[in-house]
Formats: sequence, structure tokens, C-alpha cells
Amino acid sequence: MIDVINLRKSFGDKEILKGINVTINKGDIVAVLGPSGSGKSTFLRCLNCMEDPTGGSIIFNGVDIADMKVDINVHRRHMGMVFQHFNLFNNKTVLQNVMMAPEYLQCRDLKKAKRANRRIQFKNVFRGKDKKEALVPITTTKEQIKKEVRENALKLLTRIGLEDKADVYPSTLSGGQKQRVAIIRSLAMNPDVILFDEPTSALDPEMVGEVLELMKELAQEGMTMVVVTHEMGFAREVASRVLFMDDGQIKEEAGPQEFFEHPKDARLKEFLSKIL
Ligand code: ADP
Ligand code: MG
Repeated sequence: MIDVINLRKSFGDKEILKGINVTINKGDIVAVLGPSGSGKSTFLRCLNCMEDPTGGSIIFNGVDIADMKVDINVHRRHMGMVFQHFNLFNNKTVLQNVMMAPEYLQCRDLKKAKRANRRIQFKNVFRGKDKKEALVPITTTKEQIKKEVRENALKLLTRIGLEDKADVYPSTLSGGQKQRVAIIRSLAMNPDVILFDEPTSALDPEMVGEVLELMKELAQEGMTMVVVTHEMGFAREVASRVLFMDDGQIKEEAGPQEFFEHPKDARLKEFLSKIL
């Protein structure tokens, strides 16, 4: 699904990513470990082009999204992102947070289709009877989109047991609740892959479990996930592969058992001895 080829990223003359190569297949749960400052967040942000890579390719569903000529917005909507600090909109209700992106994008698609049809209709006036261009089929309305997006958002909120929080503002939620809302907000876009950047690092310890539990469920349902985390238990039990990033490079990549029981890279051995 995603092929990262020789990905490089510099800020000024400081090279942060020094040639990353990794393949992420459908259904993979890739855990990314590594010391602070090793480039993990930069890597994730490059994956969905929140940062423009300085070099290399990111082939996502067959298209090189690192190529400046590609309209990244078309592809980015298929990649969800969950951040350490939730990044919910505090001036929107919980339900609005979950509805916002899919409603906006689907309404924009509808607007585009209508505009295309007006253009086609106009051109058709000047075309012969048997040369008329077919209109783009439009099977929905703005109201219909809103209704469906709302129903889906409520279903997702029910899934995480927060349907009664639909109309409150995020500031009234606990950290664990906020992060679970952020996760279903990205699910509402029906993404092909979700990127998680330390999703439990900002949580009080007693709230880590509920977030990991939801992530585990998604993993079992076959969602493709890339998870930067310090949760070794999660990496060990849920990940299909574990990467060790150090100094802007992937120093080790293995299945969880191999990774934790027979680490090869010296820096990884040191890293594991400090945290396990
Ligand atoms: P990690 O997530 O592994 O802790 P980051 O990807 O956040 O690491 O950062 C790696 C390095 O890149 C750090 O030295 C950081 O200071 C630098 N860096 C990250 N973002 C920027 C930026 N926008 N401008 C300049 N330097 C940055
Ligand atoms: Mg980081």
C-alpha cells in the first residue's frame, strides 16, 4: 500500500531523515520505536506530506505523493492521523469534530460535480444531437450528505460509548475520551491507513489502556496502522512489524518476537536495556 523509497528530509542544512526505506502492506501494524529526536514524527509527517520530503518517493496506492505535481489532497484523505495532543477543535462539539472533514469533503465533491455538469450542459448546447457529452451522475444532495455523515458519526461515538457526549465540547472530556474521539474522527474518513504519533504519551496512566484497547480493536479489524509509540506491550502484542529509528535511519526492522528477543543493532540493544 505504501512504499517508502530513500525518503530524505532536511530542515535547513540539518538532515533529519537520511534515506528511509520501508514497505507498508495492507493490514500491517507497524510500530515505530526510537529515542526522542530520532525523526519519528518527521517520518510520519512526511508520510502524509504534512512535511514535504526533500528527496525520495512515497508510493501510496500506486502514486508518488512526494511528487510536487501530485494533488496531495486527493490522497491525504485516505490517510488518517492521530496526534499526541489529540488536536480536536475546541470550539466545535464532539459530534461536529467527527463530522467536519467528511462533510466538508463530500460537499466539495458534490459542488465540483455540479460545476462540471454546468460546464458540460453549456458545451452541449453547441454540440450536435449525437455528440452530446454525458453528465456526471449525481445521486446525492447536501442534506443527504449531512444526514449520512451525522448518522455515521453517531454510530462511531456509540462504538466508543460516548454517544451521550455528542453535543459537549472537547474541553469537558478526559484525555482518554479525547483521544478516542480523535481516533474515530479519523475513522470517519474511512481511511486506508491511520498514522499514530505517540497517541498515549500525553495521557494519565489510567487512561492509556482504553486508547490502546481501541487501537487493538482496529488492528484486529484489519486496519493498516503505523504507530510511533513507547508502549512496548502494544508493540510486542499487536504489531506485525517493529522498526527502530535512530539518527534519521531505520536501524532495525523485524517481527516483534525477533525484535525484542534478538535485537542486532547495538543502539537498539542499548535502547531496549533502558526501557525494558
Ligand atoms: P522524534 O519524533 O523522533 O522525537 P522529530 O521528528 O520530532 O523526532 O525531530 C527530529 C529532529 O528534527 C529534531 O532534532 C528536531 O529538532 C528536528 N525538527 C523537527 N521538526 C523541525 C522543524 N519544523 N524545523 C526544524 N527542525 C525540526
Ligand atoms: Mg515525536
